[in-house]
Amino acid sequence: MIPGPFQFHRPQSVADAVKLLSSLGDEARPLAGGHSLVPMMKLRLATPEHLVDLHGIGALKGIRREGDTLVIGAMTTQHELVASPEIAALVPIVKETSLQIAEPQVRYRGTLGGNVANGDPGNDMPGLMMALGARYRLEGPDGVRDVDAVDFYQGAYFTALEPGELLTEIAIPVPPSGHGYAYEKLKRKIGDYATAAAAVVLTLSAGKVATCRIGLTNLSETPLLAEDAAACVIGITLDEATLAKAADLARAVMQPAADGRGPAEYRTHVGGIMVMRALKRAAARAA
Ligand code: FAD
Repeated sequence: MIPGPFQFHRPQSVADAVKLLSSLGDEARPLAGGHSLVPMMKLRLATPEHLVDLHGIGALKGIRREGDTLVIGAMTTQHELVASPEIAALVPIVKETSLQIAEPQVRYRGTLGGNVANGDPGNDMPGLMMALGARYRLEGPDGVRDVDAVDFYQGAYFTALEPGELLTEIAIPVPPSGHGYAYEKLKRKIGDYATAAAAVVLTLSAGKVATCRIGLTNLSETPLLAEDAAACVIGITLDEATLAKAADLARAVMQPAADGRGPAEYRTHVGGIMVMRALKRAAARAA
């Protein structure tokens, strides 16, 4: 299909983009990599009258360290995350997860900002950002505000973004060195969205889990933080019984849709298995 007609704008600064989005109202949408928005437009599921292309705004690109935080510009592509030495050294789970998004063609264009702002429960980055305790910087007509990833998602395609607001940066607290991590994603084939996926970030102390966060992808209409599952492994050396308990506690918060990836019961079942695998692999990697 062919998208409906639209006007194309390419502002050169965040301030100009915000001005455009605010003045054009509901009929305007930011355009990042276009790999979620344009397919929706081709299906006429989205019919924006104005596209505000963010590619002219240099300030939205790049990865920098600010103390204990890694700050990633919203227009940083998934490919740039895969190629970044800082990401590989400081938050390797971001690289591991990026490599599981689609295929190289998509990753060359698709951005971290677009992936987290999109609000599609199938996107891989939002659950990971919850597991990492990330915060999103939003800039709009009323100024700048920061929202935790865990508070950002309100429903499928509904987020905390207000009209006229842009997501400009993603701030990730750098996990301690020696932390363990794993992103486990079950998909039907290479390039597919997750049937179920789990992100685990943890630390060990004397062989026992000291801290743990678990994010879930495509197991509800929003990404989820499996807090009870994470709490049940604290202070414990991971054994099969604890892994099974964590999986059950994670399953208790899942409410996946029944779709082409399987019935809800199946997706909940394999969601628990993703949690167990991610916990196991993360613990094996932790120093
Ligand atoms: P766009 O498509 O340009 O925008 C997406 C939405 O976010 C739009 O509503 C747009 O207005 C809004 N937006 C974008 N940037 C901002 C911003 N800075 N501030 C506010 N709003 C903004 N994704 C996965 O996670 N996992 C997969 O397995 C996966 N498989 C895919 C397979 C295929 C074949 C394709 C085409 C895509 C796939 N994707 C997958 C989606 C891909 O990762 C997209 O790139 C991503 O979801 C959106 O990023 P984008 O930069 O392309 O954003």
